Amino acid sequence: MGLNYEKNFLHMEGVNVKELASEFITPFYCYSKKVLLANYGELKKALPRAEICYAVKANSNMAIVKLLAEQGCGADVTSRGELMLALKCGIPAEKIVFNGVGKTINALTLAMQYGVKQINIESEEELDTINQIGIKTLTRANIGIRINPDVDAKTNKKITTGKAENKFGVAWPEALRLYKKAFQMNGVMIKGISIHIGSQIMSLKPFEQAFKKLAKWIDQLEKEHIIIKNIDLGGGLGVVYNYKKDKAVAAKDYAKLIDTYFKRFKKNIIVEPGRRLVANAGVLVSKVLYNKNIGSKKILVIDAGMNDFMRPALYHDAWHEILPCIKWNRPVNKVDIVGDVCESSDIFGRERLLPELKRGEFVAIMGAGAYGSSMSSIYNYHPLAPEVLVEGKVFRVIRRRKTYEEMLDEQLDDIKYGLKK
Ligand SMILES: *Cc1c(COP(=O)(O)O)cnc(C)c1O
Repeated sequence: MGLNYEKNFLHMEGVNVKELASEFITPFYCYSKKVLLANYGELKKALPRAEICYAVKANSNMAIVKLLAEQGCGADVTSRGELMLALKCGIPAEKIVFNGVGKTINALTLAMQYGVKQINIESEEELDTINQIGIKTLTRANIGIRINPDVDAKTNKKITTGKAENKFGVAWPEALRLYKKAFQMNGVMIKGISIHIGSQIMSLKPFEQAFKKLAKWIDQLEKEHIIIKNIDLGGGLGVVYNYKKDKAVAAKDYAKLIDTYFKRFKKNIIVEPGRRLVANAGVLVSKVLYNKNIGSKKILVIDAGMNDFMRPALYHDAWHEILPCIKWNRPVNKVDIVGDVCESSDIFGRERLLPELKRGEFVAIMGAGAYGSSMSSIYNYHPLAPEVLVEGKVFRVIRRRKTYEEMLDEQLDDIKYGLKK
């Protein structure tokens, strides 16, 4: 929908990507407003009564978060920084849920000051800490407990979060004990229960396994007279990265499953989609630096690297389509598309069939809207890739590239900055 060839030129909505790339220094991220809003619209239509809390870590560009905020979307944040960003983008605290195994006292204090919808607790020490802050500041923190349901999300090992061997959440018996403890505390208010079993989940089955357990646990809580308001189902809905192989779960089927297990409770449903809202709304545009051969292997070196887009290097089976920005008839080669970073894992695609590309031509790495820019770094001392948002025929820069001078300046040896509280 966002990305199309028009007369052999790749377009993001109405903008010719090659022309855009000629105007900017590559690499840069390019997003489609239309796709972003369509993704949100699809979920909202399927889940009209649920609170959709966008997982900001998937893409924390403020222009993106603001667009979602304008639609009435809430936020799932995982740090003090994300919390401040969500608030700054106009998302009210009562639409923000706070997740993460390692929330700091500063972050928790801020979240409680604003009165966020729900802080999902992941350990007894965290519960005690929150209670102490609450007592000290005469507030009650809205809390939920994140339960590790011990189900296999059948996704990449590195993005599975709901198995007992993962670091997330607490096991049910422990959760029940914590709920009873929290019930007696003066610094907290029990609001909900939460799970999040993993990311890029491509079938309903793991969701169903987790939902079944969760429904049983809510029944048990009610039996103990611990009444919650919110059922937070986490994120994890997968997207199509490989058009030949992948099939994503339809939003309406996901919604139906939620109804099947939770309608009877008549509570607020929270979902925390990240990837599903932004992944296919963005591409990473990069320039071909060199062609080279090692033996019979053909290699295309591009000016993006794992510092810009880490997924292919981090998750070995992460597959991203790579498209030439101009598609005309040329001989097709089998090539490895590699980044410019000094790491062997810095490979965007292996043995891909691509038309012969010359130095200075551009390619677009698809499905780069989620966990792309937000996971990027300056490794090898490259500035962070800028970001451009397209709307129809218009584009605007929503994150500029830092100059090398700015990057060098941050490193001046001055204790006034950064270290002091
Ligand atoms: C990362 C995360 C999400 C979002 O996951 P997606 O797979 O991007 O939908 C939601 N909730 C929690 C707790 C997370 O850690």
